[in-house]
Parts: sequence; structure tokens; C-alpha cells
Amino acid sequence: MSTETIETFETFADLGISETILQALTEMGFVKPSPIQAQGIPAVMQGSDVIGQAQTGTGKTAAFGIPVLERIDVANNAVQALVLCPTRELAVQVSEEIGRLAKYQKGLRIEAIYGGDSIDRQIRSLKRGVHIVVGTPGRVMDHMERRTLKFDQVRMMVLDEADEMLDMGFREDIESILAEMPEDRQTILFSATMSKPIMSITKRFLTDPVLIKVVRNELTNVNIEQVCFEVKPQAKVEVMTRLIDMYHLKSLLVFCNTKRKVDEIVEDLQLRGYASEGIHGDLRQQQRSNVMSKFKAGVTTILVATDVAARGIDVSGLDGVINYDIPLDEEYYVHRIGRTGRAGMSGKAFSLVARDEKFRLKTIENYTKVKIEKGVIPSFEDIVGVRKARFVETIASTIQESSDADLYLDVLEMLHHSGFSTEQIVGAMAKQIMGVQKNEYSDSNLAWEERRGGERPERGERRSGGDDRRGGSRFERGGRDTDRRGPSTDRFAPRADSRRSEGGREERRTGSATPEAGMTRLFLSLGRKDHILPKDIVGAIAGEANIPGKTIGAIDIYDKFTFVDVPERDARAVLRAMDGNTIKGKPVQIDIAK
Ligand code: ADP
Ligand code: MG
Repeated sequence: MSTETIETFETFADLGISETILQALTEMGFVKPSPIQAQGIPAVMQGSDVIGQAQTGTGKTAAFGIPVLERIDVANNAVQALVLCPTRELAVQVSEEIGRLAKYQKGLRIEAIYGGDSIDRQIRSLKRGVHIVVGTPGRVMDHMERRTLKFDQVRMMVLDEADEMLDMGFREDIESILAEMPEDRQTILFSATMSKPIMSITKRFLTDPVLIKVVRNELTNVNIEQVCFEVKPQAKVEVMTRLIDMYHLKSLLVFCNTKRKVDEIVEDLQLRGYASEGIHGDLRQQQRSNVMSKFKAGVTTILVATDVAARGIDVSGLDGVINYDIPLDEEYYVHRIGRTGRAGMSGKAFSLVARDEKFRLKTIENYTKVKIEKGVIPSFEDIVGVRKARFVETIASTIQESSDADLYLDVLEMLHHSGFSTEQIVGAMAKQIMGVQKNEYSDSNLAWEERRGGERPERGERRSGGDDRRGGSRFERGGRDTDRRGPSTDRFAPRADSRRSEGGREERRTGSATPEAGMTRLFLSLGRKDHILPKDIVGAIAGEANIPGKTIGAIDIYDKFTFVDVPERDARAVLRAMDGNTIKGKPVQIDIAK
């Protein structure tokens, strides 16, 4: 991992976490500690008793799970940490999450202990030796009384969701369990609220606790229209582009929770012909300024960013902000949407909410005390409608303003000569320029309300043939369509060329102006002057990206660069495999052709 990022001061590595856990975190897709983690982990690691107050969904499990793992001595077969959770579901969830964090800690054993499960099985398991027990208070008491669970070597005790455990009537059990613990253990208590009963428990059982509270901030800007859209994870980019088209968003900040996601979204948007670039902590200063100046100049219209990266940039007057995913912390939400609607202008803040992000949005609503309206996803017809209207507008203004438009007047005559009617010609040109095509996202397949048999999994399960680097993190689950269908399905996406003509920039290409349907045209920074032959290109791409050579389409070699068409579904893989790689020993830059 690079340390030369602007996030240096807030990475997991900076929290003094050991290599094995860092590796697991990377695989889980955790890039940056959430606020409760950033503050809680160091406090717990230094050995103090800790009270942590933060809302649900803010990453409290890892906040205590990581320091707990750091303190376990695997060679010692005794229970060294006990985590109490209010319910069976939470106990399982927490033990699983700690299990993932412990992936590279060889021999470490965690057991979830809860009612409703065979006590004999639990006893057998405990006898074999367990280092961390995650359990519900009732069942833990049960084992304590049977002497099948011994606490004499427990060094850390965690009360997770303490307020909820008290609400459920576990107070006495909790107190009995706490009373059994060794005096010198460390106690950590997490709770979303700090009620009186919680305070009394902390007074009795915690010693000089450090209080960590993730503070709240009022939402002051009322000029922002906040709307959420309930969207299937794999349809998020599609819905996002529909919203951009529908509301004609020309300067837009898209937020997501991880750096990896930033790269993925940018790639996706570029493939669909949107001028977008990403900004996150892995970029060098030079690259950042480059991205920023293009965005400010309007060359790039969409900036995709992580929360941390966005903190350092100065942009205002944005048409809108899109929350590609819902932030882990409600503070972030406030910061994000505050980027739009400044200086008396109204702004749009759209949030794309997957089913399992719904609760986080609720938390945000409670926190900001603003109801976020539920929006209707624009339909295919809506998009065709707005694009048509804009097309007519563009044509009208081109006729009125361009003095050299008559240079092209004979085109109509030429086409008439070929036997086409004016209607046919205009229709074809409109289609070409508007670039509206159907794709696999039918209107009914975007929102997550409809559940029909045989639909693709809601959550981003790992898929065969998918890229294993993705989908590992729960946080990112389902955020990505790793299963985009091949070119045979019809697509609906503004094409790259249409976007360009909207932007008014002229760019000419010889050969066929656009790649064939289902193909994506790539730009390579090598050409004739580099003595590159088509077979070199086919060989390199097929070999590096592991795709059959015969699926590679047209190759146009120019003096200094080359265009090559590859199947749309492979474009990403090719970009990844080739960028910065070499062909015939020469370093090559590769990009989606502009
Ligand atoms: P809480 O206990 O505060 O309700 P959890 O610990 O259950 O929250 O975390 C909520 C979700 O966020 C989980 O799916 C978890 O894997 C994920 N998560 C936690 N911390 C991070 C992080 N730093 N980066 C990305 N995802 C995270
Ligand atoms: Mg929790």
C-alpha cells in the first residue's frame, strides 16, 4: 500500500494495526477507518476502558474487533475475550466479521454462543478451545453456570449494542457476567444512546473510561432538494446516468465509500460516454490538479470522489451531488450534499439506496431531521423524451449560430441520391447523435421492490468468472454489475460520440466513425512510428487480457497512435491488463477512445 497518499494520517496502517489484519481489511474492501474506528481503535489498543457512542452502521464491530484480535495469544487455548450481543443474529454477524478480520491469524478460534442452538454442540466446541466468544447474555450465563465457559483468562470484555441489551431485559445477566470477570480485564461498551441505565453500568463496571462520541452536526442548508432512489446495486450506474440525463446535470460530484469503487464507477461512466474522472487518495498531487482543472474547466462534467479526497477540493456551484452509496457516517452525508446548492443556488442531492443501505438512510434522516423524499426512477421513455428535446434545441441553435453550416448542406443531397427519404435521414442522424439505445436494464429491473424469480442476486455475490478482487467487501456488496451481459443484448446508453457533439468538440476519425454495436473503441499510445503491426496488438491484448484474439475487432494504426475495437464486455479487462504495460517492449497508455 502506498503511503504517499493524502489519507496517510487516517489509514488503518497508521492506527498501528498488524500486517495480518491490514491484509484482511484490504480484502474486505475497507480502505479507510470510519470515525468511530479512527478514534476507537487507538483508545482500545492503548488499554483503556472505552465507551463508544455511534449510530448503527458506522463500523463499530471492527472498532472493537481489531483491538481484540491484536490482544489474543493464539498459543494460549483459553477464552481471552468475550463479546456480548443482544441477539442471535448480531452474535453471528459479529463473529463472522471478526472471523473475516482474523483470516490471516492462523489458529485463532471464534465461537458464537446463543440460545436456540444445541448446547451440547457448543460445549464440545468450547472444550476444543476457543479464543474469542461472541454470545448472547442468556446463553453465556447458561454456560457460566454449567462451568463450560471459564472466564479466568479473559482480558477483554465487550458489550456491543449495550442499550439494546438492556432494553431486552438482559441487565441482570450482564451484571452477573461482568461480576465474574477478572478484575484487571479491559471493558469496552458500545451503544447508540447513553441512557441512565447505561451510565450506571459504566459507573459500576468500567474504570476511568475514555468516552468516544461521534458528534453530530445540524444540516443547515435548506436549498438542497434531497431525493432517494431505491435501486438494485447492479443498476446504480444505469440509474445514475438516467438522472444525469433527466436533470441535465452538467457539473456533478458523485460520492462513494471506497477508492476501488471510485475507479470502477469512473470506468463505467466513461464506457457509457460520460466525461467523468475520479479523485482519491491514491492519486499523486500532479494527477489531482490535472483532474481538478479539467473539472473546473468543464471538460469533465462528473467528478467521482471518496469523502476524504473530496474534503480537500474546492468546488462550488455544482448542479448536484449523487450519493452512489450511502455513507457510513451521517456526518459524511451532510458534508457531501453541502457541496451543492451553495450561494443561494438550489442543488440536487440524489441518493441511490440499495436494500441493505436503507437503514443507514433512516439513520441519516433521524440525524439531519430532514425527510428524504423517495423519487421515481426516470423511465426509458422519459430519457428518450428529454434527449429529443435537447436534440431539437441543439439543431436549432446550430442552424442559427453556425456560419459554416452550409458547408454540410450537400450531405442531404448525397443521401437523397442514395435513395433515402428526408425522414429516414433525419431519423438516422438523430439516433446517431442522441445515441439512445436499449440495454439490459428494462425500467422494471432497476428498483429493488420487485422481486421476481430468477433475477440476479441482490447482493454482490462472487460470481464465477468474476474478478475476485471485487465483491470481497460487505460494504461494497452488490455495488457492481460483474455480470453485465454480452453485446448481444441491446443497450441503452448515450454513446461516446453523442456526448462529444453535445460538448461541441469536433473530433474526426477515419475508418468507421463508431465501433460496431457491442464493441468499445480503445485508444493506444503506440502507432506506426513505433513499428507496431496489427498482430502485435492482437497478441498483446489477447495474451494480457486473456481474451480470444478473434474477438478483437477493427484496428486502425496511425502514425502516433492506434484505435482498436474490443468487445464491450472485455473493455475493462483490457484496460486493466494493458495500461502501463508494454507492446513489443514499448510502454503503452490505453484509454477509451474519445
Ligand atoms: P455497527 O456495528 O456500527 O452498526 P457494523 O460494524 O455492523 O456497524 O458495520 C456496518 C457495515 O459497514 C458492515 O457491513 C461492515 O462490514 C462495513 N464497514 C465497517 N467499517 C468499514 C470501513 N472502514 N470501510 C468499509 N466498510 C466498513
Ligand atoms: Mg454493531
